Order: sequence, then C-alpha cells, then structure tokens
Amino acid sequence: MTPDVRDRTDRPANLGRLPGEGCPIPDSSWDRALRLIGQADEVALACHVNPDGDALGSMLAVAFVLRSMGKRVVASFGDRIFAVPRLLGFLPGQEMLVPPEEYPAAPDLMIVFDCSTFERVGLLGANAASAREVIVVDHHPSNTGFGTLDLIDADAAATAMLAEQLVYRLGGRLDRDIATCLYAGLVTDTGSFRYSSTTPAVHQMAARLVATGLRTDEIARELWDRSPFGYLKVLANALERVTLEGRLVWTYVSRVDRAAYGLPYSELEGIIDIVRRADEAEVAVVLKEDDHGDWQVSTRSKGTIDVAAVCAALGGGGHHNAAGYTSYETVEETMAKFRRELRRVS
Ligand code: 5GP
Ligand code: MN
Repeated sequence: MTPDVRDRTDRPANLGRLPGEGCPIPDSSWDRALRLIGQADEVALACHVNPDGDALGSMLAVAFVLRSMGKRVVASFGDRIFAVPRLLGFLPGQEMLVPPEEYPAAPDLMIVFDCSTFERVGLLGANAASAREVIVVDHHPSNTGFGTLDLIDADAAATAMLAEQLVYRLGGRLDRDIATCLYAGLVTDTGSFRYSSTTPAVHQMAARLVATGLRTDEIARELWDRSPFGYLKVLANALERVTLEGRLVWTYVSRVDRAAYGLPYSELEGIIDIVRRADEAEVAVVLKEDDHGDWQVSTRSKGTIDVAAVCAALGGGGHHNAAGYTSYETVEETMAKFRRELRRVS
C-alpha cells in the first residue's frame, strides 16, 4: 500500500502553505490597510499604464470585494488613450472602470496595484498626489515605496498574490469572477508557471483559484492563443529585421508597421517571447512604438544579466529577468544607449 503523503517524513515543509504564509508584510500594515478601507465610503483603485494581466486582474479582483462590502468603487489606469487591451477583454468587472477624466481628483483613499514607481501611475499620478491616503500593493523589488502605506513583497511572483491576501483579509469569498481576475495576474507574471518565480505557493494559489471552477483553457486561449490576422504580418516584419549582436537579440515594431494592418499597440506584448527564444542571446529587446510615437522598450534576460538595472539607468525598471522603459529617441539612438548601459552592467 502506498503511504499517505502526509505521513512521509520527506514531505516538503511548505506543502499546504496558507495564503500569504511567509509574506514579509507585517500584520500591522495589513491591519492599517483594513482600517483605512473600513473608514472609506469610496475607494479609488488604479493600476499601471498599459496594464497587463497582473495589474488589471489584481485591481479588478479587489474591486469586486470592495463592491460587495458596499463601498463605492472606481477603478482606472492613467493612459492618455484609455482602452482595455483586447487580450484582457475577457476579465470580468470592467463595468467598474472609468476613464482618468472621470476619476476623483482627490480621493480619500486610493489603492495602486503593480506600480513599481509613481511614474507608472501615469495620468492618475496627479490624483494620487492629492489623495489623502495611498496604499501601494506591489511585488517589484525596485519599488520605491511611494504610498502612505506600502504593501510590498518583492518575493511574490505577482501582485495578484497580494491581492488574494487582501481579498481574504477583507473577508471576501473567492468566487469565479474574482478568481478569474487573480488567475490572469498569476499566469501572466509567471509566464504560465514557467518562470523561476513559480514557487509551491504559486501553485497552491492556482489550486485555490481553479477550484472555483474557472476555465483555465479559455483564459489561456484568450491570453496567448489568438490574435487578429494582422499580428502575423507585423510579427513577420519584426522577425525579418531581427538582429543578433553577440549576446543581444533585438528588433522593433513601428507605428507604421501596425497602421498597415490596423493593429493596436497592445497586441505586441507577445513578440518579446518569440524574440527571446534565440539560444545565442542572453538578452532580448523589442522596441514598440506606441500611438504617441514613443518607444516602449521590452527587455528580457535569461538570468545572468540584470535587465532591471539596465532599464533603471534608462528611466524605467522592472524585474531582474523582465524590465522596460520608455524612450523618446529614434530606434538607433535608443539602441546605442541600451548597448552602452548593457556593457556597463555585464
Ligand atoms: P513588458 O516588457 O512586459 O512590458 O514589461 C516587463 C516588466 O518591465 C513589467 O513587469 C514592468 O515591471 C517593467 N516595465 C515595463 N515598462 C516599464 C516602464 O516604463 N517603467 C518601469 N518602471 N517599469 C517598466
Ligand atoms: Mn506584476
């Protein structure tokens, strides 16, 4: 007879970890967050500009719980052109979103998700600066701690892990809508549970979320397995001019490339994952021109080089293996500066 895993002496100590177990954020900080939320009639939520699954998913999950507590909830992100990326269109709760111009100018309480710096709050930075209290919920090691209360865990694989804790601590029940939002964050930031950040706690959280009956197959298809036809053409152009320079592989996608197929900027997110496949490269870069003509620079490392340090030197930030920044210069100038900073850190 196979012994029960619970009786085995070599059972991993962290089997059955509880939500938030091992989280370095002290209970006193969580308690203060609960007090601030308890006192507020209206809570204004924000996440970073050009939101990804973790930013938007974490924010909407908490929005659901606050709404069920009877709070007035507004949620937004500070982009000049306010639009939910198509690939996040399946997330429930979008009726709680308002464009930045309808956001309270000076909220009593604002909660900001997945923003490593104040700049990432974008247009809503002015609202945050005027807010009485700002709770920062984030997992970026580079987070500067710009809130009046910071709930930051640099070891968390996703902000969604902190959002899940907040849901529980607020007494919220994990229903399928909330779980879908949190799962989108968890699965996005761990690269479908492939990155080194994928700890037992990540899988255990996933188990709790999947147990609500959410459709992991449908979420995966929405996030990674569909695109407008034009994406294939734009990708073909980007790959046509992809360049390998020693241990650096890079390419770019311009506004003109996208305009030919009416492809929105947000469709470009997955290109870096294709470019970084090149075995010869240690670092991958994709320059994506947004609708304003600025270049959003996506960078990835395979582990030895800290791209967050490179990007921080260029005005951005992120994680050791995935970071970014905005460049207002040409492709050539942008790459010249990038190469210089890369040489400096490697
Ligand atoms: P992505 O390439 O997927 O857009 O971004 C990868 C990571 O880099 C994000 O998770 C985020 O932490 C960081 N990042 C991307 N763009 C910026 C930026 O403009 N500023 C900062 N501070 N971080 C960024
Ligand atoms: Mn994140």
